[in-house]
Amino acid sequence: MSTTNHEPHSAGTESGPSRRSVLRYSALAAAVPAVGGLLRPGAAEAAEAAYDPVPPTALGPEIPAKGYLVQEVRGGLYWLTDGTYQMMFLVTGEGVVVVDAPPTLGHNILRAIGEVTARPVTHLVYSHHHADHIGAAGIFPKGVVRIAHERARHLLREDGDPNRPLPTRVFSESYRLEVGGKVLHLSYQGPNHSPDNIFIHAPAQRVLMLADVIFPGWVPFKGLAVSSDIPGWIKAHDQALSFPFDTFIGGHLTRLGTRRDVEVQRAYVRDLERFTREAAASVDPAPMFAKYPGNAWAVFKSYLDAVAEEATGRMLPTWRGRLGAADVFTLDNAHVMHESLRIDHGVLGPFGIRP
Ligand SMILES: [Zn+2]
Repeated sequence: MSTTNHEPHSAGTESGPSRRSVLRYSALAAAVPAVGGLLRPGAAEAAEAAYDPVPPTALGPEIPAKGYLVQEVRGGLYWLTDGTYQMMFLVTGEGVVVVDAPPTLGHNILRAIGEVTARPVTHLVYSHHHADHIGAAGIFPKGVVRIAHERARHLLREDGDPNRPLPTRVFSESYRLEVGGKVLHLSYQGPNHSPDNIFIHAPAQRVLMLADVIFPGWVPFKGLAVSSDIPGWIKAHDQALSFPFDTFIGGHLTRLGTRRDVEVQRAYVRDLERFTREAAASVDPAPMFAKYPGNAWAVFKSYLDAVAEEATGRMLPTWRGRLGAADVFTLDNAHVMHESLRIDHGVLGPFGIRP
């Protein structure tokens, strides 16, 4: 299928959407009767919603009543979604290679594969060890070859979850998986969202899958996707763009992505870093020391809150309406960006080296 109908940048400008375009978004979002998954805003709900309406550029295809949508991207590569989680599978001449098994899709994974082929699942690739992306890995038969990064094996062994069987094959840097004449390239480029998160590239289909880094049409999930390595997670945007791909599968949320989606989120993250640095330099903690004498944690929490709120205030005029839920998660994202700037980059503001 084509992804050009999801052009993520059809409205708004580099300096952000006008008030008029935000209003236009509102009207369009309210006019969409069902957008799949958890998001079904009606006109009345949209009018009363505590948060901004979801911009049309964040919407995806409608999810059928059976609870999942399966579509061929191209060349025997299919994506499968419930409107919140995404995975993919590659139908080859010898069997089916599945990438990820989110528990929200669960047994619908087998139903969806059964809709498009009678061939058996022979291989299962884990993008990373997190249960929300591979927690249904246990539904596949024992003989299936399970492939993951070597760190995933260690992490899964520690987790001890029977629904996430250990990989039977691991790699450290890269792995070429060829089954029935079709190829996936798996590559590890360092820790990012998790210590074991890998890039899964289908060169013939020009598809890149990378879970929990880029969220096409939406701001990143809270706290920069609750990532274990924020500098690595930021770097992963450039690493993703170094692959030749046209279609991006992010593991979330409503729709497939494009290279443009990766670039747009990279711009969001760059703005967030710049505004958080500026906020960290401008917030004065002196009044907080005066307000909470002797309570260091209260002083510190007030300072961290003030920096995140200041950064968010600078972000929202540009990003509201340009990415979905900017008003929902930008504050959480600013908190985590600030913590990374402090801890990873030594941006300590008034708590730096005493003069
Ligand atoms: Zn994850």
